Amino acid sequence: MGENETAAAEAGRDFVRDIVQADLAAQRVQTVVTRFPPEPNGYLHIGHAKSICLNFGIAQEFGGRCHLRFDDTNPVKEEQEFIDSIQEDVHWLGFDWGTHLYHASDYFEQLYAWAEHLIRAGLAYVDDTPPEAMRAARGTLTEPGQNSPFRYRSVEENLDLFRRMRAGEFPNGARVLRAKIDMASGNMNLRDPVLYRILHATHPRTGTAWCIYPTYDFAHGQSDAIEGVTHSICTLEFEDHRPLYDWLIEHLPVPAQPHQYEFARLNISYTVLSKRNLTRLVREGVVSGWDDPRMPTLAGLRRRGVPPGALREFVRRVGVARANSVVDVALFEATIRDTLNPVADRRMAVLRPLRLIIENYPEGQTETLPAANHPDAPERGQRAVTFGREVFVEQDDFMEDPPRKFFRLSPGREVRLRYAYLVTCREVVKDAAGQVVALRCTYDPESRGGNAPDGRKVQGTLHWVSATDSVQAEVRLYSHLFGRPDPGADGDVMADLNPNSLEVLTEARVERALADPTQRATVQFERQGYFCHDRDSTAERPVFNRTIGLRDTWAKVSDKRQAAGTAAAPARTS
Ligand code: ATP
Ligand code: MG
Repeated sequence: MGENETAAAEAGRDFVRDIVQADLAAQRVQTVVTRFPPEPNGYLHIGHAKSICLNFGIAQEFGGRCHLRFDDTNPVKEEQEFIDSIQEDVHWLGFDWGTHLYHASDYFEQLYAWAEHLIRAGLAYVDDTPPEAMRAARGTLTEPGQNSPFRYRSVEENLDLFRRMRAGEFPNGARVLRAKIDMASGNMNLRDPVLYRILHATHPRTGTAWCIYPTYDFAHGQSDAIEGVTHSICTLEFEDHRPLYDWLIEHLPVPAQPHQYEFARLNISYTVLSKRNLTRLVREGVVSGWDDPRMPTLAGLRRRGVPPGALREFVRRVGVARANSVVDVALFEATIRDTLNPVADRRMAVLRPLRLIIENYPEGQTETLPAANHPDAPERGQRAVTFGREVFVEQDDFMEDPPRKFFRLSPGREVRLRYAYLVTCREVVKDAAGQVVALRCTYDPESRGGNAPDGRKVQGTLHWVSATDSVQAEVRLYSHLFGRPDPGADGDVMADLNPNSLEVLTEARVERALADPTQRATVQFERQGYFCHDRDSTAERPVFNRTIGLRDTWAKVSDKRQAAGTAAAPARTS
């Protein structure tokens, strides 16, 4: 992204919006009409979110409308499951097509009629050349292609053959319909592109009514024209298709003159955004499904606890550029934190529990203490947490022999249990193997709420849960699915999988207020990160997904030591 584009993105503007605005100002366009045209052959991912926000966003901002159009021209790969999930995901992201839900298959009859129109005009022909030979005759970027021997068929013969293709007389691949343009064109897309192919397959919507299907190039622009789309916005790989888009619009009696504009697709480091590869991850069982929380799909991100507003904000921050680039996944993660920080309730959960026995706290006694739901938003209220003689703290919050700047628990050191009391570690309890299994402590009864009565300085503040009034939970910690920033750069993406992308903790303990699995909102586990109930959660056994971690101050220090010189991680936000 160039500097000008960054500045424009800040202002919520970009070159596509500039074009739309200019077209409206010059009255070349009365009402802006855009469309989002997914092929229902997979789930939507965060790259699609960019296209959705752009298309629906422009329609909203300029008082136009945006259509949801399924580009369902390849029945071999398309399924109802995908059609349903795409609609759910667009809605979840916060956009609505109203009554404007369309399918390329709605136009099959019209598209067929226009194909015959091209044949009659001498601009399309049926080609019997086998696929291999046809590919060979296409030429290369430096050599022109060769005319097919079938290029000179009469209009009558072409019409007859095309009708028989439609009637189902020929097997898959036996013949295609091609536009007659220019086999010597410098643009490969103009070398007599295929318009129709034979595919004996059941279509999710048209069933077995058709056995010939239009190609993307033939269906897309004409569908735009039928719907009155004014700005057909797509990704840069279609730039070379634009001359074909325009050629078809020019040579067909279409009801409108849409224009295609291209923008840079979203790429994110450590992330794969091609449906082909995402499909492989699902099919090969690398992930649990399209909504595995490690997937960059909208369904996966939703299950992981990422709010739709974080995706919209991320897309806004990335902006819309004309040149392809790779966005640092850290920007996405920072956006998730920034979005959740002001709204997520705070809770306490201990992921790897270590028992603390408070020797001078009366046996059998408990008390409840108020804990703020949000430190910066008193209006969000409080909940009660139970304190007693035994509590759990994080194993990581104890070191028997700590380095100098470690302000958490160690023998003889006093720390604050958040919202509760000051406690001092007196004795380390170990098992036969020498593992620390508990800490014997004392507390200062005068420090209720966590304040030292004499104002003495206590540096460390730990989160904790009651040993008796907490709930055991499973916590799933996710990290990047791929172990390198550019998965697949050396060949197969599967070789670049991160073997540690999922860590499951089964012994975690969460405060009582977190037990209700019907609570859908993402919360912050204090000092740990943002978490939400997974759909596997039950009242007996809550299951949490880590949406995104916070950065522990200590982790930051050791990160800096280890990774001096690499890009700085986003700062912890709270
Ligand atoms: P793939 O090539 O991985 O199969 P696709 O682009 O063919 O994906 P479609 O369902 O055809 O998937 O995409 C629908 C719309 O979303 C298209 O307009 C496409 O340009 C856009 N889109 C897809 N991926 C991205 C991306 N990474 N960034 C921005 N827009 C995207
Ligand atoms: Mg596509």
